[in-house]
Amino acid sequence: MSTASPAGTPARTPAPGQLTFVAPRRAKPARHLADLTMAERRAAVAELGEKPFRADQLSRQYFDKLNGDPQSMTDLPAAAREKLGAALFPALLTPVRELATDGGTTRKTLWRLFDGALVESVLMRYTDRTTMCVSSQAGCGMNCPFCATGQAGLTRNMSTAEIVEQVVAGARALAKGEVPGGPGRVSNVVFMGMGEPLANYKAVIGAVRRLVEPSPSGLGISARGVTVSTVGLVPAIGKLAAEGLPVTLALSLHAPDDELRDTLVPINTRWKVAEVLDAAWDYAAKTKRRVSIEYALIKDINDQEWRADLLGKLVRNKLVHVNLIPLNPTPGSKWTASRPEDERAFVRRLEHHGVPVTVRDTRGREIDGACGQLAAAE
Ligand code: SAH
Repeated sequence: MSTASPAGTPARTPAPGQLTFVAPRRAKPARHLADLTMAERRAAVAELGEKPFRADQLSRQYFDKLNGDPQSMTDLPAAAREKLGAALFPALLTPVRELATDGGTTRKTLWRLFDGALVESVLMRYTDRTTMCVSSQAGCGMNCPFCATGQAGLTRNMSTAEIVEQVVAGARALAKGEVPGGPGRVSNVVFMGMGEPLANYKAVIGAVRRLVEPSPSGLGISARGVTVSTVGLVPAIGKLAAEGLPVTLALSLHAPDDELRDTLVPINTRWKVAEVLDAAWDYAAKTKRRVSIEYALIKDINDQEWRADLLGKLVRNKLVHVNLIPLNPTPGSKWTASRPEDERAFVRRLEHHGVPVTVRDTRGREIDGACGQLAAAE
């Protein structure tokens, strides 16, 4: 008797009467041009029996012309289009919902990945820049209680190309003039969508490289325009500092004391406030980049003046900027944003310590701008 089993899983012969359970094979997203370095692209093309320079043509089509459809790559012979398209341009992202606000200059997209997982990205156009906020994981394993994504747990890591495709989709919409303000480009990318980017380190670094590499290797976005936001995975912050990529590090602190941070950002039970701040200062020293401290102001939870004072003392005289985020309440949450007077007092205390501080604008709030809220509703 033979037992059917998914490809690659050896079938065990069951004892009579015994049921076999074969764990479903975890399929990975298909390989895409954007997963590969220039050298890997040339090798992949050669393996398909094509001249290596086809890799440069494909790269220019994708990263310059933002064309992901091989059928319309008319600088390639028709037969090559078919073959290279199938091998290097699988469909990775399918739009499920598109929501716009701010007169169309804020656009949020809910994407379905090949395996049904849902992720979100947001395009925000300002007068002087356009920022894409991207997801790096489907779901998230960090379990922060105020975050919509944290509530559902981690589904899986995204691939480099799945991350890059979110930016390319935004760049395409801008280039085509679909976003009010005339044709434009993506100037900034923030890893502040779903997921913990440093828990998907390899794919995220690959994506950052594709974003900042000049054409035709990548999109040519300035590394200074890229921000990686983290709960504070200390070893990964150290690794990132050594990559030689001057991206901005954003640290989601949310509390200056371990007692509260243990509950708001549970990974704090592993790496404490002092450790994570040390890692941030090392990052600033190595990259010469100002670290951004993210602090969601939650009414009567972390917005007391004494906590502002403590935060001020911890970060003053450092290469730092504090970004206060009015909490975007998630459905069913008992928490809400701070009172305006408490927010103002918090800002004043930080300024008193000479700490540069801004309150983030709340763009996209009416379209469930806080990460994960759209996917959670679906
Ligand atoms: N996992 C990464 C990046 C994703 S979230 C991180 O934690 O940094 C990007 C930022 O949005 C983080 O600072 C996160 O704490 C914050 N955030 C999450 N849910 C929020 C909410 N409901 N209101 C305000 N900020 C929120």
